[in-house]
Parts: sequence; C-alpha cells; structure tokens
Amino acid sequence: MIDCHVHLETGPYTLSWVREYVRIAQQRGLSEIYLLEHCYLFPEFLPMYAPVRSQSDFIDAWLNRKGGKRNFAEYLRLVDEVRAIQWPVQIRFGLEVCYFPGYESFMTGLTRDAGLDFLVGSVHFIDHFAFDHKPELWRGVDVDWAYRRFFELSICLASCGVYDGLAHPDSLKLFGHHPSFSLEPFYEKLAAALAQSGMYAEQSSGIARRSGARLGMEPALLQAMLRRGVRVQTASDAHRPEDVGLQISKLEQITRGYMA
Ligand SMILES: [Zn+2]
Ligand SMILES: [Zn+2]
Repeated sequence: MIDCHVHLETGPYTLSWVREYVRIAQQRGLSEIYLLEHCYLFPEFLPMYAPVRSQSDFIDAWLNRKGGKRNFAEYLRLVDEVRAIQWPVQIRFGLEVCYFPGYESFMTGLTRDAGLDFLVGSVHFIDHFAFDHKPELWRGVDVDWAYRRFFELSICLASCGVYDGLAHPDSLKLFGHHPSFSLEPFYEKLAAALAQSGMYAEQSSGIARRSGARLGMEPALLQAMLRRGVRVQTASDAHRPEDVGLQISKLEQITRGYMA
C-alpha cells in the first residue's frame, strides 16, 4: 500500500523527524510513502502568488503568516541524507505545487534541477478565491461558477505537462457545496487530460478527514479516471506523522470495487 501525499511541515528537516513518519507507515502496513512540502513554505515560490495576493486581503494575510517560512536548500539536503540510508519503506520526495496558469515555466525553473522525485499539482485557489480555507469565504460565491472554474483549472493543470500527479481532484466539495449541473463532461475531460499526460490522480482521505465529505473521489469521477487508464494512487494528505496512512486501505478497497 502506498500513501502518496505526506507533509513534513510540522517538524524539522532531520532524519529523526523522517523516522517518525516511517515508523507509523510501517505500523499501518505501507510499503511506500511520498514525502512533500507545500511550495509556498519556500520563499523562492512566492512570486507565483503575487497576482492572487494582490486581489485578496485574506490570501495576502495568510501568506504573510505562512509563506516563505522554510529553507528550500535545507529541504533538498534532507532529501540527500534520506537517500543515503536504507529504509524499511520506500520513500520518495517531492513538492505540492499550487497551480497558477502562466507560472508553469517559472515553477519548473525552480524544480528542474532540484533532484526531486515528483511534483503534484493542486488547485487551491480559484482565481483569487481560497475556497478550501474556511466556509465563510464561500459567502456570496456563485457555486456553479466555482465548479466550472475549478475544473477548467484542473484540466489546464493536467494538460500543461509539468506535473506528475493531481492532488485531491474534487476537493471543492469540502464544505458541502455542489453545482446545479452534471459534472460528468468535466470529469471526462479531466480524466482524458491526465491519461494523455501520463499523470496519476490521488484517491485521498484528506478532505473527508477535514470536513466529513465523501471519502475519496466522487464515484463518477473515479470511474472516469479508471475507464481512461489513469493511475489512481491512495493518499492521506497527512500533515503530521500520526496521520500517515489514514484510511488508505479503505480507499484501496473503494478503488478496487470500481475496477471489478
Ligand atoms: Zn492540497
Ligand atoms: Zn497536501
């Protein structure tokens, strides 16, 4: 079993911090973990956020609190240290990169020679709407617009050719909002774009853990992915060692159910 989305961010960049994650991964029967960080933790990536922060006081304040707090070179040093050791579970290192159209080459310029194993792309912002931060931000937002735009951005992300995977593909359901129209045409386009780019899609427990939304992808989205041959990988979106592997076996079971 694999957990392809595990954040290190609450601890130091040390081998003993990585060991905490590996210990829980072993306890939960995982064979592989993908360790990563949010790109906004590193100052190098903050220019990508300039357009959205200039249009949203909320995002600007959030980035002033959270952005640029960690050292990218130190993170990459930890990657080298970890790779020099034999571990009981396979470990990959990468980044969770917020998707902003137009910043693809800026982002690859920072990551091309970093020696990371993967980049997973996330739509965390619909233009300057930080939809997954708190429910109050949805007040006055046109839900149909948000869904259309979210999937348009996801399809661009999947088509742009710089990411290895797509994180939490329908995270927009987090606070219980649903569109008035069928999402199936978007699901088909997204699955086709992922298949074309050879990307994986996450079957994640993170959104359900935060909000009580349905565990993993909506069935029609998952089915579209599987029909097109998209690799579906289980993910916890853990932000601390004790959450590694949470509900991974349940997610696997759900996915297998639709493959049969
Ligand atoms: Zn995310
Ligand atoms: Zn994440």
